[in-house]
Amino acid sequence: MKEIVKLKQTMLNVTHELISGCRFCVQISLDPEDKTPIQCVKYSGCSIPVHTNTATCLSCQEYKRSNKNERQDIASGG
Ligand code: SF4
Repeated sequence: MKEIVKLKQTMLNVTHELISGCRFCVQISLDPEDKTPIQCVKYSGCSIPVHTNTATCLSCQEYKRSNKNERQDIASGG
């Protein structure tokens, strides 16, 4: 059981490393049991984020081309 918890924590850490640079990512949960740990504004279309799972991020791949410095523009509608 401890190994499963460790594995989930590792997956969450990897996700955090990959996605934290995405300009649409607002927050990533620290809870490894959270099924939708990522709060994303890309799919909400406004500054209020929607909760997404890691599979959505991995298929979206916006994190590969995003820059967090551009988030200000999105949040302000620019
Ligand atoms: S779903 Fe796409 S846009 Fe949203 S946080 Fe994940 S990688 Fe970024």
